[in-house]
Amino acid sequence: MSEKNIFKQIIDGDIPADILHEDDKCLAFRDVAPQAPVHVLVIPKKEIVSLDHLDDEDQGLIGHLYVIIRNLARDLDIAEAGYRVIVNCGNNGGQSVAHLHFHLLGGRPLVWPPG
Ligand code: AMP
Repeated sequence: MSEKNIFKQIIDGDIPADILHEDDKCLAFRDVAPQAPVHVLVIPKKEIVSLDHLDDEDQGLIGHLYVIIRNLARDLDIAEAGYRVIVNCGNNGGQSVAHLHFHLLGGRPLVWPPG
């Protein structure tokens, strides 16, 4: 059985995903269990377990991910109405995949607090 987690398998092309964007630093693909009409995951190709595992040197990478998220929101036509970006970190944060990922959610009004 593969030792790679599910997102590393997607990065390496071992399993399929509905990919919306790819460059040398990151990958964006549709969440397999969407929680909104638009639910995209944006992940760094660098293996970073969670936000808590970020190195100071990753600042530029995180900025790049946010620019990609902004572009995706525009391309998917949710920018004008508004959207939400979420990073779940660790057990209490509800993180289920041990590879840093940003959820981009939109296409409906999103309630607050998130629960
Ligand atoms: P989190 O709970 O923040 O760790 O989010 C993990 C997300 O990954 C969940 O929203 C899952 O639905 C999603 N997910 C798990 N496996 C896949 C997959 N193979 N392709 C796309 N999304 C996935």
